[in-house]
Amino acid sequence: MSEPSIFTRILDGEIPSDIIAETPTLFAIRDIAPKAPVHLLVIPKTAQYRDVTELAAGDPGLLAEIVELANTLAAEHSDGDFRLVFNTGANAGQTVFHVHAHVMAGGLDEKSMNAG
Ligand code: AMP
Repeated sequence: MSEPSIFTRILDGEIPSDIIAETPTLFAIRDIAPKAPVHLLVIPKTAQYRDVTELAAGDPGLLAEIVELANTLAAEHSDGDFRLVFNTGANAGQTVFHVHAHVMAGGLDEKSMNAG
């Protein structure tokens, strides 16, 4: 067994973080290093999928649930418009290998349009 991911540790309450939304399969937190006025992470509770390609192949319904929750949160926390970013692979900036979506919204400037 590999070490639990940082997101599993947050879900288990081992690392303090505000869980701002939760469904039976997903939870959402604020990114600790925001790159946009609103920068949230939508994360499956299962750590089974390393990245979005594994998730799409293994459970496309759960991927659709991520999109739906991102949409709901963008409406709650901003004007409803948002960027959805899945960094996939270390060379693309992925640092946590427990699939998660970055939801960025709220007055996106050029810098945040290129971030994630
Ligand atoms: P990625 O680089 O795409 O794997 O995204 C991982 C994200 O998790 C980064 O944007 C980090 O800022 C964020 N992150 C890491 N640790 C925490 C934490 N304890 N609470 C909230 N966000 C975190």
